[in-house]
Amino acid sequence: MLKAFEQFEVWFVTGAQLLYGGDAVVQVDGHSKEMVEGLNQSGRLPVKVVYKGTANNTHEVAEVMAAANTDKRCIGVITWMHTFSPAKMWIHGLQILRKPLLHLHTQYNEKIPYDTIDMDFMNLNQSAHGDREYAHILTRMRKPRKTVVGYWKDQKTQDHIAVWQRVCAGWADAQDCLILRFGDQMNNVAVTDGDKVAAEQVLGYHVDYCPFSEVMRFFDQVKDEDVTALVKDVYFKEYAVADALKDEAGEGYRRIWNSAKAELTLRALLKAYGAKAFTTNFDDLGDVNVETTGRGFDQIPGLASQRLMSDGYGFGAEGDWKSAALCRTTWFMSQGLPGGTSFLEDYTLNFDGDNTSILESHMLEINPDIAEEKPRLEVHFLGIGVRKVQTARLVFTTKQGAGVTATVVDLGNRFRLIVNDVDLIKSQPLPKLPVASALWIPQPSFEVGVGCWMNAGGTHHSCFSFGLTDEYWRDYAEIADIECCIINNDTTYEGFRQDLRVNEVYYMLSKALR
Ligand code: MN
Repeated sequence: MLKAFEQFEVWFVTGAQLLYGGDAVVQVDGHSKEMVEGLNQSGRLPVKVVYKGTANNTHEVAEVMAAANTDKRCIGVITWMHTFSPAKMWIHGLQILRKPLLHLHTQYNEKIPYDTIDMDFMNLNQSAHGDREYAHILTRMRKPRKTVVGYWKDQKTQDHIAVWQRVCAGWADAQDCLILRFGDQMNNVAVTDGDKVAAEQVLGYHVDYCPFSEVMRFFDQVKDEDVTALVKDVYFKEYAVADALKDEAGEGYRRIWNSAKAELTLRALLKAYGAKAFTTNFDDLGDVNVETTGRGFDQIPGLASQRLMSDGYGFGAEGDWKSAALCRTTWFMSQGLPGGTSFLEDYTLNFDGDNTSILESHMLEINPDIAEEKPRLEVHFLGIGVRKVQTARLVFTTKQGAGVTATVVDLGNRFRLIVNDVDLIKSQPLPKLPVASALWIPQPSFEVGVGCWMNAGGTHHSCFSFGLTDEYWRDYAEIADIECCIINNDTTYEGFRQDLRVNEVYYMLSKALR
């Protein structure tokens, strides 16, 4: 179990019936307990599984599903039919269930005991047909779920459950997620806009605006000694810092100090509101006379955004609240996995035949968790937005390897999740462009990957993770019941375009079928 997920549990319900007598159900109950214990002791599941007994009739199914809905610890339900559990008895319960669902198709017994198998054995090991009856009603009811097929002791089976558990945790977190917008979206930008009411209905999170006057209320409460301590005890110890920037009389030190004050301001505000994600807008940073008054953010709070991301706050630049939300979910699901996560933007292209790649960066706001080397704290002039001043930031290049990046777009009538497997390659230092950056090749190639992403209407912002794979995002889209467009090494441009056309019709009609 993972400490970060210890407040959660996933329920395990065994489908049975009393046709074979109470003794059989008692034995199945024992088998189920053993299976749940085995799953918990495998060391492969991040969330504890809690066995909730056998469900033997309509009433018992409905009861356990209703309890799952209201139990705050329960973030998902695993169902397994040890035998024929006639599926009509699941209809009411499945109609009620609003938590994520996993259908585990396994069997207590591993191999057929050819010499001893008899009807008593058969009464206990009938999931081969029992799970199909159950799966039929799930499909008939168009019930979103993940189906995991395999022996319960196998690592592969457990790993598929583990992925789903992490997504359930991310989903539970999103249902209680406030995103604060400091400023609106960047003017005229289409892709970062969208329907916040629909986002709350479909994806769970709540998006609010926070005026700069409210930011100033927290700014005024920050103590100077706390700012100085953050600079000297944290920044100067955790990051590589040039000696010139440590000169307290210099402008560099002053900008770093002001950045630290912005970080403490945002930190206190986000904590007070219970917000898990936020957006900024470089055109909206409060009082324009800050250089003389000293009250307000004298620069884009990029360093603060970098460090807050590292602590799990979702971030979206230029008011991109959909990215802020997804970045939070990306970080939350990735806890304990190696490599780190970050908000990223497609920055500039590097044409190089089969190795054509994209520099991924932003003006400032990249999460240092994906850095390869110790990040350097630097101060440079930034001429974008309402402040054109020397601005503090963490500069680094990233680790290499495979990862996955994701975005959600609002198509007007529904949301679409777009996911691209990417391969990060070695980047070069950018002495004249001092920003953190990654360099990646989208799968299956630059041409196909980017072509598909653009045809799907994907953003220039995305949420990257080294630890996740596209399986996580498939599970996420299934739980959210939204379209999921995966671009990976199996993708062809024409096949993908055709999928988009077919999906357009599917998502219109599938709602009508329920
Ligand atoms: Mn941007």
